[in-house]
Amino acid sequence: MRQLLSETVRRVRFVLVATQHSGNTGSAARALKTMGFDHLVLVNPARLPDETAHAMAAGAEDVLDGARICSTLEEAVADCRWVVGTTARARRIGLEELTPRQASQRARSILNESDGAEIAIVFGRERTGLTNDELQLCNAGLMIDANPEYSSLNLAAAVQVIAYELRTQLTDDEAESASSVTLQWQPDKAATHGQLEGFFGQTAKILERIDFHKGREERSALFKLRRLFMRWPMDEKELRMLRGILHDMERALRIQSDD
Ligand code: SAH
Repeated sequence: MRQLLSETVRRVRFVLVATQHSGNTGSAARALKTMGFDHLVLVNPARLPDETAHAMAAGAEDVLDGARICSTLEEAVADCRWVVGTTARARRIGLEELTPRQASQRARSILNESDGAEIAIVFGRERTGLTNDELQLCNAGLMIDANPEYSSLNLAAAVQVIAYELRTQLTDDEAESASSVTLQWQPDKAATHGQLEGFFGQTAKILERIDFHKGREERSALFKLRRLFMRWPMDEKELRMLRGILHDMERALRIQSDD
């Protein structure tokens, strides 16, 4: 059995959104520990880790007790450079859809080539999964291939499958050459999620200011732009340039309105 590099392990966070059953939180902690991971984040859980969670963690209490609690998904992934949302069914929201292997290879490339980059794998609530708004915060989607008539795995089982595949990709020497083929272009330093959200916020304001929507649904344009800019990791330098352009546009608009 091989060891994952502890420095790499810490950079992969598993985010559980609004988990309803604390037993699943405990089982997820156990699933992570068996695969050598330990970075668990709980977003707005229905119950904080309790006795049931600890019983299901069965030896992985350290992972459970070390879990960070956040109130929103944005907060949980703000400093991440790549975020993948898991879902049991295709959601026609235009997210690139990856298999566990493809996602793990992509993750491996980003972890290896982007200095200190952090990534997140996001899991939804037991009953309804992730909302479309939550999926929109993700760079890609991940679906575990399953029985089309019964495709929803137990939350902790889904965590287990993905953590296993990620472990395989991160420890397999052969995967190294395969993954460099997967991602041909690498940002020097990918922009963080928080930086991208800042860019989207500023873009939304300018679009409103220049009356780009003209009565049309504002969400739809913003959604398309979001999809465009999140398809591939953006470099910090590129994002700085775009912010510079927006900034100059704001200045030009101010001058115009003063005229
Ligand atoms: N009805 C929900 C199922 C939720 S299952 C839905 O349609 O999404 C709880 C969580 O487990 C999901 O949000 C997802 O994070 C994970 N999960 C379950 N089955 C999965 C699958 N086949 N592929 C990827 N993730 C899955």
